[in-house]
Amino acid sequence: MEIYNLFPGSFASNCYLLVSKGQAAVVDPSADAASIQQALMDHGAVLKYIFLTHGHFDHICSLDDLRDRTLATAYVHQADADMPCDAYKNAFYTFFHQERVYRRPENVFCDGDTFPLGGESIRVIHTPGHTEGSVCYDCNGEFLLTGDTLFAEGYGRCDLYGGSIDRMRASLKLLRTLPQNMRIYPGHGAPEVLGTALDMSAFFY
Ligand SMILES: [Zn+2]
Ligand SMILES: [Zn+2]
Repeated sequence: MEIYNLFPGSFASNCYLLVSKGQAAVVDPSADAASIQQALMDHGAVLKYIFLTHGHFDHICSLDDLRDRTLATAYVHQADADMPCDAYKNAFYTFFHQERVYRRPENVFCDGDTFPLGGESIRVIHTPGHTEGSVCYDCNGEFLLTGDTLFAEGYGRCDLYGGSIDRMRASLKLLRTLPQNMRIYPGHGAPEVLGTALDMSAFFY
């Protein structure tokens, strides 16, 4: 599976394009929809899924525009399904004291659900803590998209709506059970090796 970072997205969030044999998934549509469409054309791929790692505004800036321009629908963990539609829950109001909302994702999933992409697979790992429905995506066992759960420098904040320090601790322990040499692609910042990123948070869990 190929991965491309369409950064710069809005609000310094990473927007990833996954491609396998002509099929594509966008994870966190934060880059503008036109440039996502251009990247799809460049790689000769058809957009099959729009996956969210969680429901915060900085990861869904082009969610509605991208859905309007393509036939793809959005997928999110069931616990975060209401967040895009609510300016408090999606944190936009918290940061900017303004309303900004998005249409509800069409599809919800839960832990362990697996989606085929070009003969390969993307598996959902529920990692609550940053939000209740935060997830990581295990891409064919090759690499992990960690959203705002885990960055190169450590774990994500737990003080916004739906956040929980206890659940974050449990999620980081869960990530310790995966192959530690897997590469992670976080929601912000640079990629890292899973074990190294977890070591940065080791004092915490
Ligand atoms: Zn977030
Ligand atoms: Zn974020």
